[in-house]
Amino acid sequence: MSRPVVRRDLADLPAYVPGARSPVGAAAFKLSSNENPYPPLPAVVAAIMDAAEDVNRYPDMFATELTEAIGASLGVDPAGVVVGTGSVAVLGHVLTAFCEPGDEVVVPWRSFEAYPIAVALAGAVGVRVPVGEDGRLDLVAMAAAVTERTRVVLVCTPNNPTGPAVRADELEEFLVAVPEHVLVVLDEAYVEFVRDADAADGLATFAANPNVVLLRTFSKAYGLAGLRVGYAVARPRLAAGIRLASTPFGVSHLAQHAALASLRARDQLLARVDAIVAERTRMLAGLRGQGWTVPDSEANFVWLALGDHATTFAERCARAGVVVRPFAGDGVRVSVGEPEATDILLEVAADWLR
Ligand SMILES: *Cc1c(COP(=O)(O)O)cnc(C)c1O
Repeated sequence: MSRPVVRRDLADLPAYVPGARSPVGAAAFKLSSNENPYPPLPAVVAAIMDAAEDVNRYPDMFATELTEAIGASLGVDPAGVVVGTGSVAVLGHVLTAFCEPGDEVVVPWRSFEAYPIAVALAGAVGVRVPVGEDGRLDLVAMAAAVTERTRVVLVCTPNNPTGPAVRADELEEFLVAVPEHVLVVLDEAYVEFVRDADAADGLATFAANPNVVLLRTFSKAYGLAGLRVGYAVARPRLAAGIRLASTPFGVSHLAQHAALASLRARDQLLARVDAIVAERTRMLAGLRGQGWTVPDSEANFVWLALGDHATTFAERCARAGVVVRPFAGDGVRVSVGEPEATDILLEVAADWLR
């Protein structure tokens, strides 16, 4: 019998496990997907409602106004800004644009679970380099993992799910060690939450290194996870290639206008980020005060390296009213959200040690 066959290697892809949703009707705090706990600002909702009037039309394929606004807000050439339906999609387009079948992509691990999937879908081969016990990327080992086949290196900073950001000095050394034809992708999904003065400055790094591409998103600090909009910042020549690999009309009219309104309300939104960072400090101090060893977090989550106990700990949290994200056999990631949720988490964590 002859029939269509799905690409065989798809069966071997790791599944993307979304953070559990709160059970319908149950009063639970969702700390499982690194979402922003604040609802959209009224001005952002108004922009979405206005844009709704035009959804019989295709969106602006080039998201002209948005790429210009992003370029202006970062001080970069808008010709180098490529938007997509979340930075996860943009990462896929970057890999499609740069990798040929069998090319290697160096990825830290454990890191963002979308990486191995995106790499395999692009037909490339992922080369995993272990993240240290302290939750930090090992950039020396990552540079050493580069071979003649390497086209791209993914640098997640801060690293999801462990939390630390890459330091400026180590990134500089890394970029000296990596050949200039290898694309270095700095995934800065959480850049707005970074407070460490020694952390690498992505924009300055991008300005100084033509092989660096930044990935950023409106999903986390800007609270638009549900509308799917993220972007890459690259040299215009590379951005043109990424655009060729992108889904036409990917970013909806609603998403473009919500993102524009969010950029206009940036100060208000960044004040919310400050509040989340303060809550992160309280969560980390609370856990460490109880005796937990927790990596520094420069993002909106903290990492508990619970190993084989990850799932059990997550179950206890759920029973107490907070949904967290277990990575079986490895650890638990807890997003920073409402203060009440932190209180519950700290109670469960204290009980766990008793
Ligand atoms: C959340 C996240 C993203 C962004 O996802 P979107 O597709 O923009 O919602 C990208 N990279 C990392 C490491 C993340 O954690």
